[in-house]
Amino acid sequence: MNIREKILVIEDEKSIARFISTILTANGYEAMRAASGAEAMSMISSHCPDLVILDLGLPDMDGLDILRQLRSWSTLPVVVVSARSHEQDKVSALDLGADDYLTKPFGTDELLARVRTAIRHTATGNSEIAQQGTYTVGDLTIDYNKHQVLVRGENAKLTLSEFRIVALLGKHAGRVMTYDSIIKELWGPRASGDNQILRVNMANIRRKIEKNPAEPEYLFTEVGVGYRMAESEN
Ligand code: CA
Repeated sequence: MNIREKILVIEDEKSIARFISTILTANGYEAMRAASGAEAMSMISSHCPDLVILDLGLPDMDGLDILRQLRSWSTLPVVVVSARSHEQDKVSALDLGADDYLTKPFGTDELLARVRTAIRHTATGNSEIAQQGTYTVGDLTIDYNKHQVLVRGENAKLTLSEFRIVALLGKHAGRVMTYDSIIKELWGPRASGDNQILRVNMANIRRKIEKNPAEPEYLFTEVGVGYRMAESEN
């Protein structure tokens, strides 16, 4: 997969945050850091990460509260990190919807294995986009097997979230999909009707695949309703 996944590391201890992001960057991921719960929540909505690594002990909020809040509207994969050895924290985190768990101290291999698994589950767990083959319209091709979008044969280098949006719209090409139906399909049935994440992603996608993002050829906005992927003519 040539997608460079965006990972948000929520950790207040600088040395650990640096350790994690260095490993991620060295292994082809894009790493971002947040040092508090408040910062994390705002970065999640503005940067749309593909995965979150969440420390449970933060200065302003309990990590479990962040997880609870996040899970009320999103299925974004979350790997929880904690120095606490209490079994109860692991159980609570998993019950609240964490995808996996790391106990400090942990090594490079363990971190990377957890990240890979959590991302793979999201990438293939959604039946809507786990389809095979390709969809082509004009100079744009969605390769469902390789999880890539090509424009004139070149990889457009979409992030995982961006790919999932394009893949979903491609599957329903020619039909309008409402903001709500896209959000629920990709971020879970309890996702909020807030379109912010979708708008941010869509702006980024258009910059990558459209010649002129203001006059899209492939992804159209149906004002106040949703988005539509251009339908193939053949
Ligand atoms: Ca901490």
